[in-house]
This record gives sequence, structure tokens and C-alpha cells, in this order.
Amino acid sequence: MNLDPILERLNAAQRAAVTAPLGPVLVLAGAGSGKTRVLTHRIAWLIQAEGVSPHAILAVTFTNKAAGEMRARIESLLGMPPGVLWIGTFHGIAHRLLRRHWHEAGLIESFQIIDSEDQQRLIKKILRAQQLDETRWVPREVQWFINSNKDEGRRAKHLKAGNDPIRAQMIRLYALYEEACALTGVVDFAELLLRAFELWRDQPALLAHYRQRFRHILVDEFQDTNTIQYAWLKLIAGEGGCPFVVGDDDQSVYGWRGARVENLQQFGRDFPALKLFRLEQNYRSTGTILAAANGLITNNSGRLGKTLWTSGDDGEPIRVYAAFNERDEAEFVCQRIREHVAHGGLHRDVAILYRSNAQSRVFEEMFLSARIPYRVYGGLRFFERAEIKDALAYLRLIANRRDDASFERVVNLPTRGIGAKSLETLRGAARAAGSPLWEAAQATIETDALGPKAAAALRGFLELIERLSAEVQGLALHEQVDRMLEVSGLIEFHKRDKADRGEARVENLEELVSAARGFQTDSLDTELPPLEAFLAHVTLESGEGQADAWEDCVQMMTLHTAKGLEFPIVFLTGMEDGLFPHQRSIGDLDGLEEERRLCYVGMTRAMKQLYLTYAEQRRLHGIDSYSQPSRFIKETPQELIEEIRPRLQVARPVASGRFARESSYDSVPVHRSSYGTPRSRAEPPIPGMRLGARVRHGKFGEGVILNLEGSGPQARVQVNFERQGTKWLVMQFANLEPL
Ligand code: ATP
Ligand code: MG
Repeated sequence: MNLDPILERLNAAQRAAVTAPLGPVLVLAGAGSGKTRVLTHRIAWLIQAEGVSPHAILAVTFTNKAAGEMRARIESLLGMPPGVLWIGTFHGIAHRLLRRHWHEAGLIESFQIIDSEDQQRLIKKILRAQQLDETRWVPREVQWFINSNKDEGRRAKHLKAGNDPIRAQMIRLYALYEEACALTGVVDFAELLLRAFELWRDQPALLAHYRQRFRHILVDEFQDTNTIQYAWLKLIAGEGGCPFVVGDDDQSVYGWRGARVENLQQFGRDFPALKLFRLEQNYRSTGTILAAANGLITNNSGRLGKTLWTSGDDGEPIRVYAAFNERDEAEFVCQRIREHVAHGGLHRDVAILYRSNAQSRVFEEMFLSARIPYRVYGGLRFFERAEIKDALAYLRLIANRRDDASFERVVNLPTRGIGAKSLETLRGAARAAGSPLWEAAQATIETDALGPKAAAALRGFLELIERLSAEVQGLALHEQVDRMLEVSGLIEFHKRDKADRGEARVENLEELVSAARGFQTDSLDTELPPLEAFLAHVTLESGEGQADAWEDCVQMMTLHTAKGLEFPIVFLTGMEDGLFPHQRSIGDLDGLEEERRLCYVGMTRAMKQLYLTYAEQRRLHGIDSYSQPSRFIKETPQELIEEIRPRLQVARPVASGRFARESSYDSVPVHRSSYGTPRSRAEPPIPGMRLGARVRHGKFGEGVILNLEGSGPQARVQVNFERQGTKWLVMQFANLEPL
């Protein structure tokens, strides 16, 4: 049997792990050291060398995407499809089990999975039925109570309230929720795991069968398993099983969702025969990137401790870009991508990582106008999000009453008592009269086709749209959007939803106001009123630029989503205190350390080039903030950093430092990092004009200087005008007035 394809391109430590004798194994190693590779090769090894049937293997990955990739890798190693091998996420595998054994698991055959949003809707329904006040019994908190107990393996019946009446009520709600789920045959995410665990725990025959079958369980990203996942694993491995797990304590980033990094140590206690392997050579990143990540993570306490080195080159310095604002940040990234592509690089070499989904919008807009193909992973593209579509539907209806889809979308949103039946009546009337729903509605409210309540609600809705339409006349575009959000009740509606979800939606809606503010009409669209031009813009653009995975496009995702992946060029954006580390975590040591691990994850995604960018001023969720560069930049060894200034902002010449040399970036002078000390701004090339200064232009109004270029009569200045957007002007003709 030829085992060469499996063992070649593995170093000695990796090979030792891959070929370890059957028994419990833990591979504890840093980022990019080949843990996932070892796991994949181990599967091929088991099949080829140990003669294990693929039928006996259960592999757990962190995402479905990773599962797909792993399957493909194994296939190429074996030279044949691995067939019946089970590879999937914990949730995916639990689901599969429950589908097979729904009866033993106490479910109905056609049970449905509900996501977190549906789960909350159900909780609200229960609260209403119990006549409980949602401001006191916040649905999100009830949801958290239920899920975190499920994650710990506790049912309502296991919980004791003691003398705590609030806890007693929570437990009662948990029990009611369980009943409601059973009645309607739905299963939430946490329930999948708990139920799959209970299935094995309570059905000894079934457990024996699966223990017999899955002698080989392999788990990637083990540091992010929670209590119930671990308990499940222990159950199936039993005494004689051979769990093979790989992980890195420095990459544990789901503590907020119940993951327990302690499972790494617990594993050794529960499986005393455990063989521990450490991998120390990193194959992914340059020496500089590795040193930066290692330097950062030493600021965390209580680490298990690992060494990580590379035989590769030091490579290029870590580049830090201090953007003036979020648009400047996105422009910089765009420009670097263009340069990369101009030199023969691919778009898909580049990943843009951010802490929060809302940061993607500015990049998306910039990429669309620069015609750079991109793909956003996890999370919808901005204009496709439900709450944004709802808001756009209001705007569309203001612009055009005949828009039936928009009518349908918002006629009962926020809920105003126009149910499915009334809507059906309306549709019938519209069909009969051959008119749009709007007109049918106008006619119907004059008859008694609808009940009096529904008719009144519908009349209210029609009046609302008319009133809105009148009120926004003559307002600036972003004011129109703002007004609509207010008057329609959409903002209020999502605000009342106390879940994270509601908060995120309010933020996205505020982001829509920002988008409208920044919207510049194309020369082609100048005929259209701004609202119509804006609506055309978002519809035309929402389908474009979204390439599929196999196409060549820039990859955009949150840091959490990036776990396990790698890219030649990585931009860690929004590196500002308050954004990253997130405001919520700054005051809390554990939270801050988790954020730092997240930053470590982000940095170690980069193979060749790593950029850290931050904006001195950022408009996010409709609010301007001025923040300090992230402490994570300061914690990165400064000699590895090359600072890039905005174009032609003259900087000090520097003689020392590992990377104190001219950058290739449009001959932008470079100076050494100076975090912690106040930055000395260079002399402005044009008297009275400096970056960030406010100026007034006769035609364009007020704005802020983003860029200065050249000197004397040829000097050019880039100004971000509040109403007209960004423009380049020649100084001598611009007649700018400093404010
Ligand atoms: P992470 O902690 O980020 O999940 P990891 O430890 O799982 O990283 P892998 O993704 O398996 O690391 O490997 C990182 C990169 O190094 C991959 O591109 C992989 O193909 C490559 N690699 C790993 N081992 C070797 C090796 N022995 N020779 C050449 N390349 C290797
Ligand atoms: Mg990995």
C-alpha cells in the first residue's frame, strides 16, 4: 500500500501525530501549524494504513464550508471518495442523528429547526399569552436563560429557584417554551445539541450501537466546544474510543457563547491515556506576521504556552494605515487591491476582516463603484438585509404607490392589525379591479369588505404614507430617510425588540441614513429626484458585484467567521479602541482577553501581507466618533510596523527601525510607529489648509479636507463636502475659505 501521498509534506511532529497509535490524542498547537492538515491526513491514514472503514469515522468541523473542504482533501489524498464518512458541524451531526431517531428522541417526524430569530418570536408569543410585560421579562434575556441552560445540559425540570421569584419565573417560562416547542414540533439550535446528547445518554442500546460504529471521532477547533458538545463527545468516545482532537487555546473566541477553553485540560483528565502532540512550525505566515501575532498574544495571561516559528522569510512589515475617516480607510484598501491586481495578483488573495458586520457597507459601496468584485461571507449584503429592505419598501411606496411588493412588505410592519385574511381580501379586490393594491385598498376601506378594525388600520396606513410623502418634500435625501424611519415606526419597532438582533437592526437602519447622506447622484441620474436616484442605485447595485465563491473576488467577513482560514493579504480594519476591542469588553479582563485572541486569529490569517487600518473619525450607525487607535496596535511589537500616512502628508524622515525605508506606496514617506506619544503633524504644504480642517466652498458648501497634494498653484485638495460628497479641487480656483 502506498502511504506516501499521505505522509509526504508533513514534518516530523505532524507525522507523529498523524500516525499515532490508536487511542486518545490531543494536538495542541498555534495558528497555521497544520492542525487542520494533521486532522485531515489522520483520517486518510486511518482508512489507508489502519484499515479503518470510513463508516467508523466521525469528523467534526467548525463550519459547513470547512466540512466540504475537508471531504475534498480526503478524497484527493485517498484518490477516491470517502463515501459514508460522517463529516459535519456539531449541529449538523446532531440534526442527522435526530432525523434518524426522531422517535427515540421524542420528536415528531417532521420537526423543524428554528433559528434564533424565530426562537425569540416564540418566546414573545409565550410572554404575551402569559400577559407578562416585555420590558420586565426581556425576550432576549429569557432566550439567553434558556439557551445557556441547554448548553450546560439543564432542562427546566432540573432547575431550582430557591427563594428567587425572578428565577422561578424564568424557569416557568423555560418550561412553557419547552411545551410550546413540543406542541409545534420545532427545535432550536441549542436543543439540537442537548437532544442529541440525551438521545445517547437515555438509550443505552443506541449508544452502544454508535460507540461500536464511531470508534474514531475527530474534532477540529476543539478550544471552542461548549459543555454539552464536550459531554456528547465523551459519551460517544466511551472508554475504548479514540478521540482525536486538535485545538489552540489562543484561538478560543466563543466564550461569550458558552465555549469552554478549559475543555482542553479536562480532556487530559477524562482520557488519562491521552497522547499530547505539539506542532511548533508555522507554514502559513511570514516571520514578521508571526512575530507580530506572538507579540500581541503574550499580553494575555493564563495561556497554555506554545512556541511557534517559521523557516520562511521575514517578509514585509506590518503596515498600519491611519485613515482620516471610514471612507478614506476603504479608499486606501481599494487602492491597494488595485495595485495588487495590476501586478498580476488575484482579488481572492485579499481578505477584509472586521469586528462588526455593519462595517462592511462602506467597503461594499467603494468596491461597487470601483468595480472590484467581492463577496461577503456570513451575514447578508447590506442592502439585502430584511430591515433595510423594509425601510426601502417604505421609500419605494413614497416614490410610487403602485409598488405592490413594497405595499405587501410593509402594510403590516410594524404590526398594525392587518392580518393575512384582510390582505387576501385586498388582493382579491385588486385582481377584480385590475388595480394595484394601493388603489384596491382605497376602494375597500369605503366598503364593509374588511372588518371595522382592519379597515381602520388600513386607512391609518394609507394616511401614513400620504403624510410621509408630503412631509419629506424638499428635505435632503438623508433627512427623508431619517424622517421615514421615525414616522413609519420602524426604528421604534426594532428598538422595542430588546434582543441583540433588534439593536443590530436599529444600527443598520441608522447606517442607511449614513448611506443616504453619502449618496452622490451619478451624472446620468441627475434628472431624477434624489430619492428615486437613490432607490435605483440600491436596486441596480444589490445584485451586482456579488460573485460566487469560485469566482475571483475579494473576501469580506467578520473576524469570527475567518477562524481556520488563510489569505495571502489581510486587512484588519477598524482597529480602534471601542470598535476593536469592542466597547463592551474594554472594562472586563476576560472579555478583553477574548478580543485579543480574536485579534490574534485575525493576524494569523495572513500569509504574506498584513495591514492594520483605523480611522481617526468614523461614522458608524449614523454617529460620528473619534477614537484612539486600537490598543492591539500598540501591543504589536513596534519594530515590525511600518506606518503609512495619507498621501502627501509629509512625515518625518526616519533613520532607525527595521523597516525605516521608503515605502513603495506612491512614494509616501514613512515614519516609525509613534503610538503612545502624541503624533506630530507635519507642516501643511498649503498654508491654512491641513488634513481634517473644515472649509467652505462657494458652490459645494461646507466640508472637511481629506487630502492635499502638490504645492503652489498646482496644489490640489480633496474635500469631503457634506452634501456633495468627495471632490478633488485645484487650490488656486477653489477659493476655499477656512472655517
Ligand atoms: P489554524 O490554527 O489557523 O486553524 P492550522 O493549525 O489548522 O491553523 P492549517 O490550516 O492546517 O493550520 O495549515 C496552515 C497552512 O500551512 C496550510 O496552508 C497548510 O497547507 C500549510 N502546511 C501545514 N503543514 C505543512 C507542511 N508540513 N508542509 C507544507 N505546508 C504545510
Ligand atoms: Mg485549522
